[in-house]
Amino acid sequence: MNNRIENLLTLLIKNKMRKNIVAGNWKMNKTLQEGIALAKELNEALANEKPNCDVIICTPFIHLASVTPLVDAAKIGVGAENCADKESGAYTGEVSAAMVASTGAKYVILGHSERRAYYGETVEILKDKVKLALANGLTPIFCIGEVLEEREANKQNEVVAAQLASVFDLSAEDFSKIVLAYEPVWAIGTGKTASPAQAQEIHAFIRSAVAEKYGKEIADNTSILYGGSCKPSNAKELFSNPDVDGGLIGGAALKVSDFKGIIDLFEMKAYIYNDEKGDNITVTDDLGDMADQAAEYRTELIEKICELDDDLMMQYLEGEEPSVDDMKKVLRKATCECQAIPVCCGTAYRNKGCLLYTSD
Ligand code: PEP
Repeated sequence: MNNRIENLLTLLIKNKMRKNIVAGNWKMNKTLQEGIALAKELNEALANEKPNCDVIICTPFIHLASVTPLVDAAKIGVGAENCADKESGAYTGEVSAAMVASTGAKYVILGHSERRAYYGETVEILKDKVKLALANGLTPIFCIGEVLEEREANKQNEVVAAQLASVFDLSAEDFSKIVLAYEPVWAIGTGKTASPAQAQEIHAFIRSAVAEKYGKEIADNTSILYGGSCKPSNAKELFSNPDVDGGLIGGAALKVSDFKGIIDLFEMKAYIYNDEKGDNITVTDDLGDMADQAAEYRTELIEKICELDDDLMMQYLEGEEPSVDDMKKVLRKATCECQAIPVCCGTAYRNKGCLLYTSD
């Protein structure tokens, strides 16, 4: 029973190390002038706030050199949608990883299903692309995902495991630098999207495959994005899964209001402290040297939860998965019963966050 509670608290309270990311994939859309206008508009939309996730825009090659200096690099990273599998030379029409990096871009999407399907990109070609991207200081956003027939034949795990071979011969150090994006091909640009449960299931599988290959710590620190018809209206539920760390966004990245609507789903990270009597509440976004006290509090909270006679908690302990919102209620009840505690830590992390002890 204690294990279950430990897992729940780890999910809801522990500050996760991996980043939440919202990355746009503009594909072959926007002229240079239109792209510049879109980047400027996004930059302005984020000017007065700090997003609670990393924001990336991946643009056609020709936009990179113009867009990179236009955006505030502290808030928006810029990336390419592809790069060559060769270093340099007589490869007419290709753009190398070094050229992408020379524009100031920091990311590159590799292995997108459209590149695999229309341009014959294989596991072997992608191995070379990933290595060249890393050698040139770019962060690959490496895409994997099954087509509809594979999903219908329940082969999705097999398919993504095979696609991961392109990045599984990297050293652990190099692998730690990449971002993964699970994109079911049947959901890309189709308006269909994986259900939150489908997304969580396969993201957890991908993380377990990474853990098997590189160990739990690296797996826990790997951001795995979901992509496929993400919109502000469906992203919240998708992102609230513990193994979904944001999205790779196609169509909705072409309109600032939609893209920003998705970015805004990552709520403010905050911890709420109170004093022993509970009357001096402090909100901060960093636990800092209070972390040890928060750990003590966590132990006390576990004990309290064990004492709570609560239907939802019972359901959870019996193996069901109540919604995060329901769990927040349970945890809030438990924290409110912990009176004489030195630290109350609250909203753990962003969209996965729970306001354990707030006045709202
Ligand atoms: C994509 O191309 O990576 C993608 C997810 O597209 P869309 O959001 O339009 O489905």
